Amino acid sequence: MLIKEQELDTLFQWIEEYDTIIIHRHVRPDPDAVGSQLGLKLLIQNAYPNKQVLAAGTSSDSLAWMGEMDDITKDDYEEALVIVTDTANQDRVDGAHYDAGDKLIKIDHHLVVDRYGDLQIAYPEATSASELITEIASRSKNKLPMTKEASELLYAGIVADTGRFLYSPTPYTFEAAKTLVAQDIDTRLITDRFSETSLNEVRFQGFAYENIEFHDEGVASLVITRDIMEKYQISEDATNIVLNIPSTVSGMYTWVNFIEQEGDNPKYRVRLRSKGPAINQIAEAHDGGGHAMASGAKANSLEETEAIINELKQITTEFLKNK
Ligand code: AMP
Repeated sequence: MLIKEQELDTLFQWIEEYDTIIIHRHVRPDPDAVGSQLGLKLLIQNAYPNKQVLAAGTSSDSLAWMGEMDDITKDDYEEALVIVTDTANQDRVDGAHYDAGDKLIKIDHHLVVDRYGDLQIAYPEATSASELITEIASRSKNKLPMTKEASELLYAGIVADTGRFLYSPTPYTFEAAKTLVAQDIDTRLITDRFSETSLNEVRFQGFAYENIEFHDEGVASLVITRDIMEKYQISEDATNIVLNIPSTVSGMYTWVNFIEQEGDNPKYRVRLRSKGPAINQIAEAHDGGGHAMASGAKANSLEETEAIINELKQITTEFLKNK
């Protein structure tokens, strides 16, 4: 059990109190963002059919299978309870007016950098926001009973954020998975959503295997330009499939993808990963943030990408010295 009893009491009290509840999550949503957002929406709707429960933010084509966002106006926020899932800092909340409600709750599993909201349920020990939502339902004393539809979304969120239970699942993760699988969900179908690739994606992986630079210091890097995305007909979201290739290469401890953006502001989206030293400080130094082992940042030039690689080399060399 991660979540403090008092936080749960306040959460359930506020959910009970408000007739309109609007749920946000972060920009560039991933399955955990949408899974925790829509999973919570379904749980509240199921328990309180007379409440208006809305999901805010832009729709993502690649995650359309998880469900739709709602059309929301500023008026909806009057007298509303707003809950933001999976979002460490306020500037990454997707959807305007998230702060225009009566009360604001943050439910998140990232390192705590921005303590926003009237209530924070923030546990970096959790693998995913979906894991936290599952715990909330399990400990709700039937105020938010689990449903099959919500389970499918929450399971997808956990599967995605743990890389199919590879990255640091804890006893709480399996506890949550047990609750969700008990709803008789088709786990194979959900997992297949993450493992099936298109032919374009396979060819793009071929490009990545050929072009990732493996540096002697245990650092790997790859630049993905707009031309390459065009050539392989790959969306920016889909470049995700090559991000963790270096994790399987022995001797590699940190790695980074630089994904060229359409405009120049920033020029590159930076995706950092590690299985050794903490990388979030490097991300923070380049207008980003995130977790110790998975962070994101921005680079405005090729020189800045080089600087980031050099910083990774430094911390990785240091890490290996002390290993
Ligand atoms: P990504 O590489 O986009 O999957 O992001 C990895 C982690 O870093 C996620 O948990 C994000 O919350 C965080 N992150 C990504 N980009 C940023 C950013 N620009 N600022 C702060 N945190 C970020």
